[in-house]
Amino acid sequence: GNADSSTPQGKTSIPGVKKIIAVASGKGGVGKSTVSSNLAIALAKSGAKVGLCDCDLYGPSTAQMFGTNQQPMANERDEIIPIEAHGIKLMSMGFLLEDNSPVIVRGPLATRYTQQFLRQVDWGELDYLILDLPPGTGDIQLTIVQTVALDGAVIVTTPQEVALIDARKAVSMFAKVNVDILGVVENMAWFECDNGVKYPIFGEGGGAKEAQRLKVPLLGQIPIDITTRECADNGSPVALLSETESSASAAFQATANQ
Ligand code: ADP
Repeated sequence: GNADSSTPQGKTSIPGVKKIIAVASGKGGVGKSTVSSNLAIALAKSGAKVGLCDCDLYGPSTAQMFGTNQQPMANERDEIIPIEAHGIKLMSMGFLLEDNSPVIVRGPLATRYTQQFLRQVDWGELDYLILDLPPGTGDIQLTIVQTVALDGAVIVTTPQEVALIDARKAVSMFAKVNVDILGVVENMAWFECDNGVKYPIFGEGGGAKEAQRLKVPLLGQIPIDITTRECADNGSPVALLSETESSASAAFQATANQ
């Protein structure tokens, strides 16, 4: 790329938005979108005004996770008005697709779509805007980290070594553009049986080790949990449940409180 776009001067903030936080992972399927949605809900439960932007052009899932299929409208300035669901302002490429048709865009076009997508949304006043980045370190992610003034990034990983290796690539992408890593969230940390025994299905201590290596906090450990999956599929993120009702909800709330 162009040297200018990677300098802090080349990055722009979003008017009215206090903090912009990227949620990233190296690998797909580690639960990045699940973590993004539930952190958004948990922050809102603590009283913050929160927006969530699903930046995955190729496999957006936020609309489904929030149980909405509304199409967003434009305001008089031709900006897209986010959909509101469960108290969160949402934007997702999924809103712009008809019947989940895949978007096939590459390279420069992906970059242009992403920029337009980020700039032309009427977010209003927000305490936090969470950007759910696509997995990996491709064109879309680069466009975002080079052009948006991010306040930090959260790295989602499972404890498994293959996920950690890929997570490191995402970490170095943020380091190159001087974005702070706020911490690591270890998802699918264990599965707890009815009898209380915890099984570390993807291994143990991977998230903590990675956080230590990066000298950042381990923000939370989220169990593998049937309710979490069901809630995601049913359009009402598990963090909406009370902390006593769901240990996963408690884990997300504790993570957001960090
Ligand atoms: P990513 O965004 O990293 O691709 P998703 O958030 O879409 O991953 O999660 C992948 C799948 O795993 C989804 O079906 C989701 O419901 C499920 N999932 C994610 N985290 C958990 C968890 N902690 N417990 C149970 N299921 C989970």
